[in-house]
Amino acid sequence: MIQLTTDERIQNVTQSKPVILTGLRANNDLHIGNYFGALLPLIDLAKTRSEEFQINLFVPDLHSFTTPIDHSALQADIWNNLRIFAAAGLPLDNPDIFLYRQSYVSAHSELAWIFDCFTGFGELSRMTEFKDKSARLGVDHIGVGQFNYPPLMAADILLYNAVYVPVGDDQTQHIEFTRNTAERMNNQFGDLFVIPKSVKEQHEFFGKDQGLRIKDLVDPTKKMSKSDESGRGIIFLGDDPDDAAKKIMSATTDSFGNIHFDFEKQPGVSNLLQIQALLLNQPLDETVRHWEGKSNYGDFKREVAELVKDFLINFQERLKHVDDSQLTAKLAADEIAMNEVANATLYKVQQAVGLRPQ
Ligand code: ATP
Ligand code: MG
Repeated sequence: MIQLTTDERIQNVTQSKPVILTGLRANNDLHIGNYFGALLPLIDLAKTRSEEFQINLFVPDLHSFTTPIDHSALQADIWNNLRIFAAAGLPLDNPDIFLYRQSYVSAHSELAWIFDCFTGFGELSRMTEFKDKSARLGVDHIGVGQFNYPPLMAADILLYNAVYVPVGDDQTQHIEFTRNTAERMNNQFGDLFVIPKSVKEQHEFFGKDQGLRIKDLVDPTKKMSKSDESGRGIIFLGDDPDDAAKKIMSATTDSFGNIHFDFEKQPGVSNLLQIQALLLNQPLDETVRHWEGKSNYGDFKREVAELVKDFLINFQERLKHVDDSQLTAKLAADEIAMNEVANATLYKVQQAVGLRPQ
């Protein structure tokens, strides 16, 4: 690995290329939806377009406990995420890629507080994720942190002037909130922030993969989510490969007896077709053409189960060989560089709101 000095890292980060930024919350193991939907596209970009873009990948550890977690597992979960990034092929020696933990850059929390004071209570109350989660947990059990996390997410993005933020559909509203926050502050105080691209423009930039939604295996009408309580419909990257194969074999399908790609009418079968295409790294059309019209769901599932098993065996082997000392060195250098950038943005905002002299 090429070891860069701290000064060289800081110099890299101030070259002012457009920033692409994403984070994966550490609140459980990651699943194949996170892997194929969020991580691989970013790693592909990191491998192919880092000449044009600076890529920030961070572990939003402060977001990890907006919903209750087992705190004795948090360090392990954070490190599991970091190791997964490396095992998935994140080029750790590429100087245009920055890897960091949110809580190691205290400007995130400080800017979030300032944003809080410029955010309406009603505006946050209307966020779909907050409404859903508070309906589920009840108003006395939902934390203020859950209510308040969009301003922290806005800080995560705006501190680095990120232009593209590849996240799933569930985050669309929070990206719009981030844009509104930046516009509101810019209108009041002059040009403080770069406004991230609209969700529509982001979709265009990332092409069709951005819409990827792997569904839960037990209930294929909802997306696979790592915070789902039972875990039976989820293929976690750390699952025992045989158990994962069993989850595929018992995935909910339908009684049509006809393999056909149609997420409306046959969500279970369509989900498995999608999973197979991703595992084979094959265009979906090709996978669909191969199976279309066949009736033996058993054969189909066995093939997908076998692929999932092989994928996990390989991935877990790579995970075992991740060099923690390489990650530690990268985090140490990048967290210094990120503090430099984030503090510079924070200082501008502190000046604008009168906390620091002009
Ligand atoms: P949680 O239940 O904790 O919200 P999650 O599975 O939704 O977990 P997140 O940490 O919220 O995972 O999301 C990490 C990234 O993975 C986001 O960019 C999100 O859009 C993407 N993602 C999450 N679930 C899927 C899925 N089922 N298919 C494709 N992408 C997904
Ligand atoms: Mg989510």
